[in-house]
Amino acid sequence: MTRYKHKRDFTRTPEPSGGGEPDAERPCFVVQIHDATSLHFDFRLEADGVLKSWSVPKGPSADPKDKRLAMPTEDHPLEYREFEGVIPEGEYGGGTVIVWDEGTYRNLSDAPLAEALRDGHASFWLDGRKLHGGYALTRLRGGRPGGGEREAWLLVKRADERAGGGTPDPRRARSVRTGHTLGQVARGERQ
Ligand code: MN
Repeated sequence: MTRYKHKRDFTRTPEPSGGGEPDAERPCFVVQIHDATSLHFDFRLEADGVLKSWSVPKGPSADPKDKRLAMPTEDHPLEYREFEGVIPEGEYGGGTVIVWDEGTYRNLSDAPLAEALRDGHASFWLDGRKLHGGYALTRLRGGRPGGGEREAWLLVKRADERAGGGTPDPRRARSVRTGHTLGQVARGERQ
């Protein structure tokens, strides 16, 4: 969380500053669409009391043939899963955020999820409003202690009964919480 806090001025950004309590129930996941310098999806899984986070330029795909690049970003506080709004221009990550999907997950890895991620491969079952079924995150490169190489991972749908379908168009996609598009949130439209 140190990196998360250092990157942000909480007197300027509406993003949460952290410190929330972990959920006693099943761990959660969230997928946000973030219209920043580049339009991308942010995929976040609860583990060790924080949201482990990856920036996924093309977004998750329900097609097991699609291997989606996922670049790790700093851990985010749990309450970030509810964040939707506009980060002011000039601030870290400045731009519009919507919550595209949210739900809970079951860990399918042999080890606890945080440990599986440290080892570079985690498998989990998503029960979201939009995403369903098994997915895997696998480290492609980087992550060696002392190695300066930027980490890169792949997010891939597992071949199961929930496979099939493509990827959302991020400009048309609607928030699972409010039904708003990025454009509507950016213009400050509220129901
Ligand atoms: Mn982002």
